[in-house]
Amino acid sequence: MREQAELLTDLVGDRAGEWDRSGLLPVELLRKLGADGLLCAEVPVEHGGQGWTSLDNGAFTAHAGSLCSSLRSVMTSQGMAAWTVQRLGDAEQRDHYLRRLTSGALAAVGFSEPQAGSDLAAMTTSIRVEGDSVLVDGRKVWVTAAYYADLLVVFGRYGDGGAAVVVPADAPDVRVERIADPMGCRAAGHATIVLDSVRLPAANVLGAGAAIPFLVSSSLAYGRKSVAWGCVGILRACLDAAARHATTRHQFGRPLAEHQLVAGHLADLVAAEQVATRLCEHASRCWDSGSPDVVIATLLAKHESAQRAAAGASAAVQVLASAGARDGHAVSRAYRDAKLMEIIEGSNEMCRLLLAEHAVRVAGGWGVR
Ligand code: FAD
Repeated sequence: MREQAELLTDLVGDRAGEWDRSGLLPVELLRKLGADGLLCAEVPVEHGGQGWTSLDNGAFTAHAGSLCSSLRSVMTSQGMAAWTVQRLGDAEQRDHYLRRLTSGALAAVGFSEPQAGSDLAAMTTSIRVEGDSVLVDGRKVWVTAAYYADLLVVFGRYGDGGAAVVVPADAPDVRVERIADPMGCRAAGHATIVLDSVRLPAANVLGAGAAIPFLVSSSLAYGRKSVAWGCVGILRACLDAAARHATTRHQFGRPLAEHQLVAGHLADLVAAEQVATRLCEHASRCWDSGSPDVVIATLLAKHESAQRAAAGASAAVQVLASAGARDGHAVSRAYRDAKLMEIIEGSNEMCRLLLAEHAVRVAGGWGVR
């Protein structure tokens, strides 16, 4: 993993700010990482993947997040697509799609719709069977990485339940419209997907007929874990930038770090990075051991890491002040990117509601844990 992390550092170099300003990642870089199996490194070796543990992939994802949140976002989408195929596909679909996802094909996952954001059960995209084909109609919004993707994993209604369907981005009657001005993760290729009676082989359908909440929660669980580790990366980048600046910039005859109110920001950043890291490690260990605590551990890791990254990035901008107040600077990028982490893969509010449900479920059992 260390070798791949060094490779990533070399490939990104100091270009993340430039990508943020232009709103585009170099596609050849994404394809190279994809072909090396590094955008979804937990895919098992027999399907062409790296077969990494969740813990190792988490550390790699944090590293990507510390370099460039747009790139990490593309990694999250690819991993989520691969995990959806792993969870919902049959043996043939797993072999076919996972090989593509580890050979350079890029993927995105569409749940959200104009009228179905937090309430994904309200989605109206339809996947209708017609003989050996399905017809897909609907509109997905804010789909990360869709602008770069070859394959779009789209969730919709299927009979009385739901399904996911793998849509080639270049299929007839598919339109991918890039969102040109996102607040953060500006180069992550967010796009609206319009599906206008798209005819596809029925073999592209995954998880046919399962309940929509089951389908989306399976896929979102991976996304939450990946975003949580990405937030650890944001915190590490902010900590590095803030500590470096506070020790080299002098005001009132002393380094900033010797002014206690500034030192307080550094202390908060250290605490945030440590708490987020420990929660992510715990969640990944639950994934690796198949623990029944995995759902709640992942939710908690996402919720806490996102909040801490947003607060930590704000503190880092405060420490750098005018030195960080330029578009494309690591801390100003982190500030915009981290705020979005509180919205995606379950907003703060949705996470809190789910944590509260957990509290009620476990009621009476906390004392003996
Ligand atoms: P709404 O659901 O309209 O919510 C608005 C506010 O109300 C939020 O604060 C929310 O938490 C709160 N709220 C809503 N309902 C309740 C409630 N019952 N109780 C308390 N508070 C509530 N979608 C995809 O499908 N694929 C992607 O790859 C993807 N990537 C994204 C990347 C970015 C950068 C962004 C911004 C969004 C992305 N999304 C993606 C969409 C994302 O999942 C939704 O934005 C998110 O689920 C929130 O939905 P919404 O924006 O419609 O807000």
